[in-house]
Amino acid sequence: MKLLRYALGDETYAGILTGDEIMRLGIEDIADMMGAELAFVETGIIDSLADARVLAPLQPGKILAIGRNYAEHARELDNDVPAEPLVFAVMPSAVIGDGAVIEWEADMSAQVDWEGELAVVIGETARKASPEAALDLVFGYTIANDVSARDLQTRDKQWTRAKGLDTFCPLGPVVVTADEIPDPQQLRIVTTVDGVEKQNGSTADMIFDVRFLIAHLSRAFTLYPGDMILTGTPAGVGKAQKPPQFLTDGSVVSVEIEGIGTLTNSCRVL
Ligand code: MG
Repeated sequence: MKLLRYALGDETYAGILTGDEIMRLGIEDIADMMGAELAFVETGIIDSLADARVLAPLQPGKILAIGRNYAEHARELDNDVPAEPLVFAVMPSAVIGDGAVIEWEADMSAQVDWEGELAVVIGETARKASPEAALDLVFGYTIANDVSARDLQTRDKQWTRAKGLDTFCPLGPVVVTADEIPDPQQLRIVTTVDGVEKQNGSTADMIFDVRFLIAHLSRAFTLYPGDMILTGTPAGVGKAQKPPQFLTDGSVVSVEIEGIGTLTNSCRVL
């Protein structure tokens, strides 16, 4: 199933997307789907995707992210390939949905960059999960853009502001349930900026795969339903272009992942 949250006028709903139709569910949040029987939440109402404003598919509890999880990306920014996952956190308040605007103040950053990533949505409480059982804890997958202010990232030494500014975590447009993606390590990720391809990678090239990441993270933090893991970005970010290229006012950035869809956001400099 492809699950999404959407607004019609002032009302928000969760639904199942099929083609350009949405089967409205009698719940407000996709997190409420976890452990629920679908038959109990069907409303029988069909909405048109064209009439809907798509929202972020869920409001994550915590967002754990992995830096430099593709060797070619680590090397393109002159970083060492990490020996263990480089873990950081993204502010849940940074989340926006497909079609919403990424915005920042001109005097805050002049180096706003894109990072297309596979995002894992946790479906069950997990502590010290084994890699073998890890995929059973996954509710589904979505697309993230780990938008990164490179100048703040360098200046602050750590990444809380650089990757956590309001609007810097676009997610969506849908969560695809895990049953439709039996192997998350076989997905193509393509990022375009203003229609020009910048990143074209495969999740097969992750240094630490989804199973390993869930096991590793759940040793440090209890994972709860609705928590999310951003699994890192392939090569082709703006800072590594020759010359470097960054998002600017009016830029349109799209991240497409095979089997999930395309997440598109425009940019506004305030
Ligand atoms: Mg990233």
